[in-house]
This record gives sequence, structure tokens and C-alpha cells, in this order.
Amino acid sequence: MSENDSQQKQPVLNCHVCGGQCCRYFALQIDKPRSAEDYDHLRWYIAHRDVALFIEDKEWYLQVNNKCDFLSNEGKCGMYHNRPKICRDYGWDESGETECHGNTGANDHEHFFANLAALETYLIQKGKRWSGISKEEFAALRTKN
Ligand code: SF4
Ligand code: SF4
Repeated sequence: MSENDSQQKQPVLNCHVCGGQCCRYFALQIDKPRSAEDYDHLRWYIAHRDVALFIEDKEWYLQVNNKCDFLSNEGKCGMYHNRPKICRDYGWDESGETECHGNTGANDHEHFFANLAALETYLIQKGKRWSGISKEEFAALRTKN
């Protein structure tokens, strides 16, 4: 899912037809970056394939875009009756009170970084210099952005 998909996709909020969008990645909260070394660690994470970062409610998350081995080609859970609790707790219901956005492409992210360039642009704009880059080099990047 990406932030900009929402306008192109029609909402399909139903586990039977959504294709298991929530089974195609997982995300873990990570420590809020505070130092130049922390910012450089973010660069390291996102330099890896199929990894993204996002900020939601001011907290940072690492997202691994890798589908669950138990998601079938038909988008169904292959261990439904024995699935982990986190899978049971996450879901869609008609009240709309769950976290799930189905395959609408919508999400609650304040910022989503799909690649290193997107992250660096954000850090540059925020004036967050990472280790390994000199003050002068960083200042030059800030001027360009
Ligand atoms: S919980 Fe939401 S994202 Fe997951 S399968 Fe159901 S509708 Fe799709
Ligand atoms: S165990 Fe089932 S519900 Fe949980 S992520 Fe895998 S396919 Fe989805």
C-alpha cells in the first residue's frame, strides 16, 4: 500500500474479497531516532530491499514488505483456525472502528518512506544530519532541497 493509492482504488472493506492486504507485510515500532547515529541507522534499514519506514502518531515504524507464508494464492489464510493472536485481533468490521483500511490504500501514516531517497529528503528538510556526512556536505544538501 502507498499513501497515494487511495484515490485510484475503490474501497473493498471485506476480508473475503480484499486478498489479505494485511498479510503482505508486517511493521514493528522502533525507537524514536534522536542522534546522528540513529538517523544513519534508519538509512541502513531502508537501504535493504522490501523495507520501508513510516511515522504514525509521532512514533516510528519499520515495515517489512514480505507476505506471510500462510497466505494462499487466493488471498486466504492457510492456518485460519491456528493463526497468531495478532491476526485475530486485527480485522475489519462494519462498524468501521478497527484499524483496517482494507485495500483502499488509506492509512494513518503521517509520513511514509518507501526508499532511501524519500527518507533522506525528509531528514534534510528537518535538518537532521546523519553520521558519516560532514556539516558542509549536509548544508549543501539543505540548500538544494
Ligand atoms: S483485516 Fe482488512 S486488510 Fe486484512 S484481510 Fe481483512 S479486510 Fe483485508
Ligand atoms: S497467519 Fe493467516 S492471518 Fe496471519 S498473516 Fe498469515 S495468512 Fe494472514
